[in-house]
Amino acid sequence: MKNAKGNGRVTLLVMRDAQHSVKQLHLSKPLMMAVPAVAVLSLSGLVLALQAHSSQVISQLEQKVTAESLKNVQMQRTVNSREQSIERLQNEIVNLSSQAKDMKQRMDRVDELENQLQQFIDKHGTTSMAEPASGAKASSLSWDASQHVGGEYIAVHENDMLDLAQETKDDFQEMQTLLRSMENQIPSTLKKAEETQDRISGQPDLWPTESRVTTSSFGYRTDPFTGRASFHAGIDIAGDNGSPVYAAGAGTIVTAENSGGARGRYIVIEHPNGLQTWYMHLSKIQAHVGQTVDKGEQIAELGSTGRSTGPHLHFQVVKKDKPVNPLPYIQ
Ligand SMILES: [Zn+2]
Repeated sequence: MKNAKGNGRVTLLVMRDAQHSVKQLHLSKPLMMAVPAVAVLSLSGLVLALQAHSSQVISQLEQKVTAESLKNVQMQRTVNSREQSIERLQNEIVNLSSQAKDMKQRMDRVDELENQLQQFIDKHGTTSMAEPASGAKASSLSWDASQHVGGEYIAVHENDMLDLAQETKDDFQEMQTLLRSMENQIPSTLKKAEETQDRISGQPDLWPTESRVTTSSFGYRTDPFTGRASFHAGIDIAGDNGSPVYAAGAGTIVTAENSGGARGRYIVIEHPNGLQTWYMHLSKIQAHVGQTVDKGEQIAELGSTGRSTGPHLHFQVVKKDKPVNPLPYIQ
């Protein structure tokens, strides 16, 4: 480049390489001054624009970062609350499972009771007096489950919880089956128990006459005919000839006849619990063999047939073929 002063122009020599000729560019001085100024101006404009753009980008980035970190905080919160929920659920499964176990144990106990009731009916339904079911098995149910517990703490894992949930589900299904069978069985067991109760109510405990005057008690006495010591197998109740004689308890007439001997006309009732009641010296028999009678039902009229000194009822209770004192039964 050659600066030609004096004519107000500037000559630029452009040299490329050996193959090309040198070129001359004549530029006026003001233009020569303007080019760098324009270049500087446009450069600073560019820099300013770049600065503006980058600060915009930075602020956008900052906003994004802030939003992301907010999201992270929210996510963390969600994770925490989910973890708490899972823990609560786990605790509930544990509780539920323990309740299911307890309930199943109770139902087993009810089932056992039902069996005991059935055994009671089988044993006492047709024969002797009811005895209280004894020797009931000791059961953990008699203890307060909130006490008498302990042991080391062992943390559980998710799979354990799933297993427990499945186990609990199985327990509930088993309970439902058990409940269904109990629902089917218990009504018939109850019916049998009621029948048993009815039979037990056949216990002779009603005073068999209107008169309450006993003229001879149970046990050893002086015989009214011979004057010698003898055994009196029942009680004698004095009464009017023809007055009603009642069944002391529900049962079946097994004898109703005229003995033609000491008993005179007499009736024997067999009661469901195996006891028998005997009614002697009757003037009139008003029941027949095989007939079932209710407690208090009139079966005869009082009299003085057989070996008797006057109108009275000889009333006797027989237990396992042996006469026993009737008073404890009918008083
Ligand atoms: Zn007598």
